[in-house]
Amino acid sequence: MSKLFDTAKVLHLEVTDVCQAECPLCARETDPLFNKDLKHNLTASDMINILGEQFISRLDKMFMCGNYGDPAAGANTLSIVDYFRQVNKHITLGMNTNGGVQSPSWWTELGQRFDQPTDYVVFSIDGLEDTNHIYRKKVNWSKVMNNAAAFIKAGGSAHWDMLVYEHNENQVDIAEQVAKDMGFTWFRAKVSKRPSNISWLRPPKTWIQPPIATGTIDCHVLKEQSVYMSARGIVYPCCWLGHNSEFTIDKFDDISRSWSLTPNPTCAITCATNQHGTNFTNQWQRNIALC
Ligand code: SF4
Ligand code: SF4
Repeated sequence: MSKLFDTAKVLHLEVTDVCQAECPLCARETDPLFNKDLKHNLTASDMINILGEQFISRLDKMFMCGNYGDPAAGANTLSIVDYFRQVNKHITLGMNTNGGVQSPSWWTELGQRFDQPTDYVVFSIDGLEDTNHIYRKKVNWSKVMNNAAAFIKAGGSAHWDMLVYEHNENQVDIAEQVAKDMGFTWFRAKVSKRPSNISWLRPPKTWIQPPIATGTIDCHVLKEQSVYMSARGIVYPCCWLGHNSEFTIDKFDDISRSWSLTPNPTCAITCATNQHGTNFTNQWQRNIALC
């Protein structure tokens, strides 16, 4: 495939492109080429056939997120987790989710599987009962709370990530306290970097948009030694390139050659630098360990 694949230590896996939510700035909603009716769910066999045991056994970490789906909505998520643990006992396992799919018993099963000290689930909870669904459309608050509580009770390390907008900026302190009371291990609040032309989705009142970095490229995946696999089973250098079939992992050498001349536009938007870091880094506004 590419040297990046041969030396990867981290795998970002989109186990599914299914999700019950309708976050207005998600690629599910904004990508005109994405068809919600064509559902893709990876299987444990895909891991063997596409990635191979040798690749999986040398990973330090596998985390499930992606561009179009929520890993908790995947048809085979638990069996994929089991497969990774079977091949690689000490691998760190992670997941990002809206938390509103599946039942508490499913989350208990996941919490029991995520039993290494560095395993985690990031719950994207954008406020409280009266605000979470404003951006996380169609996510049921009670389900999120019950699922997160079940995961934590089963021993899982849960992180609360909150996107801050004008409509929920007054709730950051309360959300942090709720996270602490429930036993979350981290609380983070950030302002979304996804551009919004939606009139009711405004950044916090005092927010000043940092200047867009336009300097040299500092490639995130080269630093992290990671690769990304989409729910269609296609391997890309990273999720930002993961919607474009021109930029699969075997094109990484061409992509990286572009950086010193005319950078690939996605690389420029994501990984160009200024004195504060890249357009991707430095986005956390509040990042607090709760225990
Ligand atoms: S929860 Fe995640 S995958 Fe689902 S619509 Fe929102 S951003 Fe997209
Ligand atoms: S967008 Fe380009 S520069 Fe950034 S991580 Fe992906 S391949 Fe690297």
